Amino acid sequence: NRPISELFAQKRPLRSLEFFPPRDDAGVENLRAAAEALRRINPDFVSVTYGAGGSTRERTTQVSAMLKTDFGLTVMPHLTCVGHSRDELNELADRIYENGFRNIMALRGDPPKGSVEFKPAPNGLRYANELVALLKARHADLCLGVGGYPEKHPEASNEDVDLDNLKRKVDAGASFITTQLFFDNTVYYRFVEKCHARGITVPVIPGIMPVLSLKQVRRITQLSSAYLPPALIKRLEAAHDDADTSEMIGIDWALTQIRGLLANNAHGYHLYILNRARSALALAAGLAA
Ligand code: FAD
Repeated sequence: NRPISELFAQKRPLRSLEFFPPRDDAGVENLRAAAEALRRINPDFVSVTYGAGGSTRERTTQVSAMLKTDFGLTVMPHLTCVGHSRDELNELADRIYENGFRNIMALRGDPPKGSVEFKPAPNGLRYANELVALLKARHADLCLGVGGYPEKHPEASNEDVDLDNLKRKVDAGASFITTQLFFDNTVYYRFVEKCHARGITVPVIPGIMPVLSLKQVRRITQLSSAYLPPALIKRLEAAHDDADTSEMIGIDWALTQIRGLLANNAHGYHLYILNRARSALALAAGLAA
């Protein structure tokens, strides 16, 4: 698996997809079927999220290995600071590296459910920039991605502070930024401008999620505090909870977003596909048309 930073230098636009580790074996089989279907569109890389704790964390390793070995994909496992000491993070970094991965998405992780404040594990790390530094010190040739928040991270007191903190991650050695999902491209364009003004010059990959329903998008925007454009709400409301119609609206909205982003020089796009192949395939077809 080659470093994604090499791909940035060679190809544009890059298309990446995000999977999450399923809870059970049936979920892994569904994911395998989705990966099989997605072969057709040949994503440049895929990423696999890291759970808040428990057994899905092992599945990040399992699913990442499966996607790399069985499907020949360039895979970027995610890693968070939650619940891990520095020693454990170094061991996890070694394991990922020895298994042939050269990319990691380095994150702090969220506070556990029910608490608002993030608490580092004993002898653990407090912020993602510390994880970037730890991983780089351990394996200098790892390519690291980090998260960016066009609508500000919910815990940051203001945008400027958040951008300073984003810059810390880049200065510590991150090669690119993948953004939190957003539904209005102007939010992304403003963010990229602000990154540039701050001296952040690494690629900022827009994170796009084709929505599945009004209920889903309301829940997600509550968590991420992303702006939900009234035009999108109106169209979803008119679908009256019909799953297929809602999904088509989500795909159409994402397609318009991606067309605009690529026309405005984005390096590529990252799709939050929730382990489903359908929307990614429809988007690829729409973009090729
Ligand atoms: P940080 O960059 O550490 O930022 C967290 C907060 O602290 C921000 O408010 C920031 O402004 C502030 N801050 C940062 N550094 C400093 C500093 N040095 N001093 C003072 N303040 C600071 N979560 C998972 O659990 N698993 C996943 O796989 C996962 N994947 C994700 C993928 C992407 C692309 C994104 C955008 C998010 C993902 N998340 C994931 C969610 C993420 O863990 C949460 O958003 C988390 O709350 C913040 O993580 P971070 O790495 O951005 O943290």
